[in-house]
Amino acid sequence: MNTAPSTLDCLSPPACIGVLGAGQLGRMLVHAAQAMGYQTVVLDPDANAPAAQVSQNALQYAYDDPKGIAHLARLAARVTTEFENVPALTLTQLSEHLLVRPGAQAVSIAQDRIAEKNMIRSCHLQTAPFHIIESAEDVLTTPPDLLPGILKTARLGYDGKGQVQVKTLEDLSLAYASMNAASPEKQNGAHLSCVLEKKLPLLAEYSVILARNELNHMVNLPIQCNQHLHGILHLSTVFKGSLPSGLEHELILAAQTIAQKLSYIGVLCVEFFVLQDPAPHGLATKWVVNEIAPRPHNSGHHSLNSCDISQFELQLRTLCGLPLTAPRQHSPCVMLNLLGDLWLEPEGAQPVEPAWADILALPGTHLHLYGKSEPRRGRKMGHLNITGSRPEDTLETLEQCLSLLGLPPVSPAFLDQHFRHDH
Ligand code: ADP
Ligand code: MG
Repeated sequence: MNTAPSTLDCLSPPACIGVLGAGQLGRMLVHAAQAMGYQTVVLDPDANAPAAQVSQNALQYAYDDPKGIAHLARLAARVTTEFENVPALTLTQLSEHLLVRPGAQAVSIAQDRIAEKNMIRSCHLQTAPFHIIESAEDVLTTPPDLLPGILKTARLGYDGKGQVQVKTLEDLSLAYASMNAASPEKQNGAHLSCVLEKKLPLLAEYSVILARNELNHMVNLPIQCNQHLHGILHLSTVFKGSLPSGLEHELILAAQTIAQKLSYIGVLCVEFFVLQDPAPHGLATKWVVNEIAPRPHNSGHHSLNSCDISQFELQLRTLCGLPLTAPRQHSPCVMLNLLGDLWLEPEGAQPVEPAWADILALPGTHLHLYGKSEPRRGRKMGHLNITGSRPEDTLETLEQCLSLLGLPPVSPAFLDQHFRHDH
């Protein structure tokens, strides 16, 4: 029988694993670690953050506070991060005392869209055509065929934040000026680094989530198909055979190439855009790499209920040097993100908890809430996984959930993507 080996530096329970950041990703990692008998310590500036509520030890420090770094290094046997924008220097300093996965270098590349795109291109993979804008003069040298485009800050963007859609050079100039004026980089006399990306006509968005260990062994979750609304992930589906096997193979291979390029150890997510027609954009293939995340990803939350190994267990296994066995999907699944907006209807009223009992009365619904006390518009409060024996069943339940939650039905174009093989 083929068995996956553990690595030389395998860390067994009840050792204590450390997590930088205590958001929902940290919370779900803590759950996985505790299920396997590990102790946990999380560090976050917010004492009541989602993972701080469930971890045995929770440290409240700024990410760059030397006291916090020393405290974490005393309690933890190994450290990982759930927060992408943790200062790379903090990871470097921690790695002088203990094993840190993923490493500072990979995390710092993912923190900067320019470094990220250069790294992706150095793997001979395509990105959306882009132009670097670091001053008002750079706006003037923008190639006209990048418009209409999306101006994105190079650093600290997430969930569509730090992005503005621009149609003309004038729009671009105004958007850069206002982003630059609002940026903290400006206060130090520096200009804000941005990229202008050509806005591409997308046929579909997919993500590959893989885990890699230091033996270069890699396993991945089934590929997710993702739908975003206003730049925030709305739905992810995992239906076997919903994408042509050639494309599936290409995307997994691309994600593996990136992981190897980064000598990555841990869980890595790679987001892809599949295009309606690559030719007008001077692209050689039907897909491009959008961005990477050096951690478990929102689009992989389905794995908690659809697979026999979740992305959080994979993160734990890579951190602890435990064997990596391939996750097996046992159920088709659709994941719906639950944003704070659901608590805030009608406009202006006091927040009201959605009627979860009605949702949970439907077959195959799995509610995950992150323990955030203050619902805000666009804030990720939780997610709902819907499993069923057939994709059609999960979609039928999804429609009922959307209606109960007062959300619009799924777009026909999104449904179409799952049952069509022309891309
Ligand atoms: P974030 O860091 O906020 O996830 P992304 O770059 O992934 O930023 O953008 C969020 C979403 O916006 C994408 O998933 C996609 O739906 C849309 N988007 C981003 N860039 C482009 C682009 N160049 N062309 C078309 N759509 C885009
Ligand atoms: Mg993204």
